[in-house]
Amino acid sequence: MSTDAPATTPNYRDLPDEEFEDRITDLWERYADCDLCAYECSVDRTAGQEGTCRVDDTAYVSTHFPHFGEEDCLKGRNGSGTIFLANCNMKCVFCQNFETSHEAEGDPATPEEIAEMALELESRGCHNINFVSPTHHSPHLVEAVKIAKERGLDLPIVWNCGGYERAEILERLEGIVDIYMPDVKWSDDAAAAKYSKAPNYWTNVTESLREMHRQVGDLELDDTGLATDGLLVRHLVMPNHVENAERVLEFIAEEVSTETFVDIMAQYHPHYKADGEEFYEEIGRSITEDEYEAVIDHAHDVGLERLYLDRSMLETRPGLLDRLTRR
Ligand code: SF4
Repeated sequence: MSTDAPATTPNYRDLPDEEFEDRITDLWERYADCDLCAYECSVDRTAGQEGTCRVDDTAYVSTHFPHFGEEDCLKGRNGSGTIFLANCNMKCVFCQNFETSHEAEGDPATPEEIAEMALELESRGCHNINFVSPTHHSPHLVEAVKIAKERGLDLPIVWNCGGYERAEILERLEGIVDIYMPDVKWSDDAAAAKYSKAPNYWTNVTESLREMHRQVGDLELDDTGLATDGLLVRHLVMPNHVENAERVLEFIAEEVSTETFVDIMAQYHPHYKADGEEFYEEIGRSITEDEYEAVIDHAHDVGLERLYLDRSMLETRPGLLDRLTRR
């Protein structure tokens, strides 16, 4: 084990090779009639066809590096070993990474090359391997994990996704992914359709959350505070959508677990089409202090206490920090 690895054995190290191979074969076959995410486009990506994620069966990696902007339990001292996949299976009109997610900036990468990136990040002291926007290239990534395992990788795998998954595909990841980190964006399907172009998002994300939690349970930390395995939910609070956030939190508390670790993010800023297009003017500003406070209050009210609050907002707004810490 790397000296900078969390004190745990990653799930995939115990997965038998034969089972690993079966999962890889199953996932690769899906490129030919793609149902890797909730869009279920049924396009043949092996023949060059593209679905909503706008990429065939070639994976593109935009960058990989130790990321110090993630949650404390992921970044630790040496950073989260982040591998950013280009393209995305969601089409959020406010995406801050739209050049990567919508315009496919990146270099082609085979599973072997992705495995080598993971091993490089481990050698640099990263505490986990954090696949960002992984869903549309699940076959590549699962194969990369197997190759990296054979070459000694011993870090938890983080599945850093938008929550627009399919439970059937997540089942193929059981015993391979250690930490699921869905960014649960919407409980309001109309908003999901308008702002993320994701039909039936709420149905899919709730089924996905249940399946993720069934597999890995609540987030576990080692004695140094590093995440070892479990579910870490993110929610980005959106302007004019406090009720949307409240319903997300209610679902987590009532249907998943009150022990769920939830990062309630306040850094929304209108990017891409949300920056100036009249059709999206409802989300054309940052959130207010009152909106953030209302969401945090609701999280407490529904029994969620493992909250990771946005320090950038708290630090610049001491009045809010006072109110929240007085609770
Ligand atoms: S991964 Fe891409 S092609 Fe496959 S179902 Fe999702 S959006 Fe469609």
